[in-house]
Amino acid sequence: MKILILGVNGFIGSHITHRILNTTDWEVYGMDLGTSKVTEYLGHPRFHFSQGDITISREWIELHVKKCDVILPLVAIATPATYVKNPLRVFELDFEENLKVIRHCVKYKKRIVFPSTSEVYGMCPDDEFDEDKSPLVTGPIAMDRWIYSTSKQLLDRIIWAYGWQQNLRFTLFRPFNFMGPKLDSLHAAKEGSSRLVTQFIWNLINGEPLKLVDGGSQRRCFIDVDDAMNGLMMILENKDHKADGQIFNIGNPQNDYSVKEIAEKLRSIWADHPKRKELNVPLSQIEISSSGDFYGKGYQDVLTRTPSINKIQQTFGFKPTIGIDESLKKSLEHFLLEYATMGRDVDN
Ligand code: UDP
Repeated sequence: MKILILGVNGFIGSHITHRILNTTDWEVYGMDLGTSKVTEYLGHPRFHFSQGDITISREWIELHVKKCDVILPLVAIATPATYVKNPLRVFELDFEENLKVIRHCVKYKKRIVFPSTSEVYGMCPDDEFDEDKSPLVTGPIAMDRWIYSTSKQLLDRIIWAYGWQQNLRFTLFRPFNFMGPKLDSLHAAKEGSSRLVTQFIWNLINGEPLKLVDGGSQRRCFIDVDDAMNGLMMILENKDHKADGQIFNIGNPQNDYSVKEIAEKLRSIWADHPKRKELNVPLSQIEISSSGDFYGKGYQDVLTRTPSINKIQQTFGFKPTIGIDESLKKSLEHFLLEYATMGRDVDN
């Protein structure tokens, strides 16, 4: 099988490439702006990489949609700090550019495996978010945060409609706070535009305070990226075509923690870490910050976000097993290595 991965150098792209190259005989065709997360695969005989910008490399993309069997378009801005800072960039990249790829898949009759997002459920009141039943609840227009959620929601609806009106073969998957090595980068965290775990790790390594937005009682279910890749592989393999025309949450409802609990856990792992003593970094304090101070205007939070994973469990036997402590430790070790090379590696 030939798979086209746009945004192959991202968090999900690099991990799924690793899994594909190590466990299948598939050919991976990938495009990205940089190579920092896929350097180790560049010489692999089944990894065909092209460095480029999907907003410019239109012909390459069309040619490769035509050539490949499955299309995994992962290019998107997925960091809340950017939703409020530059909502139009989110719309132009996440919505407009991906719509073009979707239309190529319709034209050339290719299967698309599209990343929807847990963010589409927004402030859904359900205890567990169900792919086929839960309402999708967003906030007022002045709350720019929701531009990502609504862009993705509309793409979900467009793909769905292409499915029944024009026979597009598709699967939508919804990541619930995937975490692990390569989630964002320390460069992003340095600018304060990273997601929670990477942001806190950067703060700890630099002895800066960990900031709990609006008190940190908001909760997320975190899934280790290795567990998450098991789920995504099941969808890509698509045994008996059971993923066709379906939406699947990928998450771990067991790893349900508040932001404050994550801060405390990471801080205590770092407190006893030999590297902290080596770097001679003071142990960070935990502080409370208002969302207005932290993100600026246009931010509204999601207070709980728990996936139902019954569907992927019953369809493919998906069962995440990695606990939060192991996943946090793994992430910290990765970012310590990245920290040691910072300054030399500038393409991300
Ligand atoms: N958050 C925080 N401090 C930080 C970064 C994030 O309190 O330094 C909070 C943020 O307000 C949100 C949660 O952590 O409630 C998760 O944020 P993330 O950026 O990882 O993405 P989300 O899960 O909201 O998509």
